[in-house]
Amino acid sequence: CAAAAATPAVAEPTPVYRDASRPVADRVEDLLSRMSLQDKIGQMTQAEREAADPAAAAEAGIGSILSGGGSAPTPNTAESWADMYDAYQRAALNTPLGIPILYGVDAVHGHNNVHGATIFPHNIGLGAANDPELVERIGRATAEEVAGTGIDWDFAPCLCVARNDRWGRTYESFGETPERPTAMASLVTGLQGSSLDGPASVMATAKHYIGDGGTTGGEDQGNTEIDEAELRAVHLPPFKAAVERGVGSVMISFSSWNGVKMHVHDYLINDVLKGELGFTGLVVSDWQGIDKIDGEEGFTAAEVRDSINAGLDMIMVPYDYQEFMDLLRQEVEAGRVPMSRIDDANRRILTKKFELGLFENPFTDRSFTPTVGSPEHRELARQAVRESQVLLKNEGGVLPLPKDSGKIFVAGKNADDIGNQSGGWTISWQGESGPITPGTTILEGIRQAVAPGTEVTYDRDGNGIDSSYSAAIAVVGETPYAEGEGDRPEGMGLDEEDRATLAKLQESGVPVIVVMVSGRPLDIAAELPNWDALVAAWLPGTEGAGVADVLFGDHEPTGTLPMTWMVSADQQPINEGDGKSPLFPYGYGLTY
Ligand code: BGC
Repeated sequence: CAAAAATPAVAEPTPVYRDASRPVADRVEDLLSRMSLQDKIGQMTQAEREAADPAAAAEAGIGSILSGGGSAPTPNTAESWADMYDAYQRAALNTPLGIPILYGVDAVHGHNNVHGATIFPHNIGLGAANDPELVERIGRATAEEVAGTGIDWDFAPCLCVARNDRWGRTYESFGETPERPTAMASLVTGLQGSSLDGPASVMATAKHYIGDGGTTGGEDQGNTEIDEAELRAVHLPPFKAAVERGVGSVMISFSSWNGVKMHVHDYLINDVLKGELGFTGLVVSDWQGIDKIDGEEGFTAAEVRDSINAGLDMIMVPYDYQEFMDLLRQEVEAGRVPMSRIDDANRRILTKKFELGLFENPFTDRSFTPTVGSPEHRELARQAVRESQVLLKNEGGVLPLPKDSGKIFVAGKNADDIGNQSGGWTISWQGESGPITPGTTILEGIRQAVAPGTEVTYDRDGNGIDSSYSAAIAVVGETPYAEGEGDRPEGMGLDEEDRATLAKLQESGVPVIVVMVSGRPLDIAAELPNWDALVAAWLPGTEGAGVADVLFGDHEPTGTLPMTWMVSADQQPINEGDGKSPLFPYGYGLTY
C-alpha cells in the first residue's frame, strides 16, 4: 500500500526499562540512564497526600506519597482509597518517563486508617501471644486489605525493643528483650508474601532503626545512652532478622544514639545496616526526621546533605517538598553530595518499584477490596485476641466464668468502647474513644458468650451493683494515645475514673475480675489484693469477642508477659535479668 509506505510508522523500540522480560537490574540501569538529576531527586522525595495532590505530585516528579496517621480520603472507604491511589498512579504514568509512585501507610495493626478495616491487636498483644506463625498470617491478611486499597508499602513492623514502659510507643513493641521482636519479624514475610510482585504483596518496613525503645527515661525521640555491645545485643537482632527475611525498607529512628541523631548516623546506616547486614532495600527517614536534626524547625542544607550522605535514600519530607528538592539539588551541584550517592539511592528505590511489579500492574487490584474487614480476617483477629490474653491472677479459680452464671455485672470505661480497645493508630493518629469503626466491643463479646438465661448488666461507672450478682467484670486501663503523647514520665497508675468504678464493685462483695485494656503494664500493685482475677488484654482491636472467649473458657489462656510487670513506676526501667523484683516477671502467665 503506497500511502502506508509514504508515512512509515517506525515504532520506537520498547525501552529496556519497560520490558518485563529483562532482569530488574538491567531495567534499573536503563531507566537511570534516561533520568535527569531533577528526576532522581524527585524519586528520593516522599510527600504527604495533603501536601501534593496527584497533579502536583506528577508536576514535581515526586516518587512517593504517604498518608500519615489518619490522613484519609473522603469518604473514608476502601473504594475511595483505591480511587485516590489510582489517581496518583495515573498522573505519575502520564509523565515523560512514566515512573509509578510508591504509596505508603502505617498499617500497624491491620489497615488501621481505613474505616471498616479489621483491627488486629497492637504488637504488645501479639508479643504476648508469641506465635510467629499467627503473626505471619496477620501480615498476609493485612497485606490483602492494604492491597485492596491500592497501597504498596506499609510502615510496619515496628521492631523496637521497648525497655522503659514510660515510653508512649511501648505498645508498638513485641517485647522488652530481642527474643520476641526477632521472632515476630515473621510479619515481614506475611506482608510481603513469597515475592514482592505476588498477589497482594505489600512492601514491609522494619522500624525504627535503631534504639528507639532504649531512650533514657523512655522519652519518645530521646537519646539512647548505651554502649555499642548493648545496642547490638538488644536492639539489632530484630533488624537482622527482618533483613534476612528480605524486608524491602527500613525506617530510621527519630532518636539519637549517645547524642548523635540516627538520621545522620553514617556508621550505623552505611556501615552496619547496608554494609554488615547487607541490606539492599531502601532506607526512608521518619516524618520530618531530617528537619529535626539540629533541633530547629525547617530544613537546612547541612541537614539535607548529612542525612543523604549518611545513607538515607528517601526522605519523608512530608510537606515542604519543593524546598527539600531545591536544597538537595544545590548540594549535589556543589559536589557536597556525590552523584554516586544519588544513583545508589535511586537504584534502591527503583529496584523496589520494579520488584513490586508497579510498571506492569500500577493500579489497584480490586479483587482484594472486599477483603477489607472481611469475616475471615475478623475471625483471625479474634484468634489473635484470644491468644494475646495474659492471665495474671485467678484467686480461687474464679475464671473461667460459667456461661450460666446467673447475673454478671460489667463496668469500666473500656468495656463498651471500640476506640478505647483499639488504642492509638486507629482511624486517627492518636486514636479516639467511641464507635470510630465497626467491631465487637468486649461487652458485646461477653453478651454473645453467656448462656441464654444469664443476665448481663452494664453500667460504665459501676452504679447499681449489689450482692445479687455472681461476678463483676471491670474493663479498665488506658485510653488512646500515640507516640510522645503517651509518654508517662510521672504516674503510671489507674486514673480517677477507674478507681471510682472499681471501688463500687469492690464494696458490693462480689468477685471482681479486672480486664486491663492498656498499652503497657500499669502501676497496680496496691490495688491488686482487692481483685479476684486480673487479665491483661492489651489493646485487642475490633474483635472484643476474643476477650470473652478467654473469660468464659472457650479458650484457655496461653499468653505470657512480653514485658516485666513493675511493682511500682519508680522501678522503670525494669527488664528481664536486671535483678529487680517485679510484680510479675517477663514470660509470666497462668492458665486454667
Ligand atoms: C512515626 C512513624 C510513622 C510515620 C508516618 C512518624 O511520626 O514515628 O512510625 O511511620 O510517622 O506516619
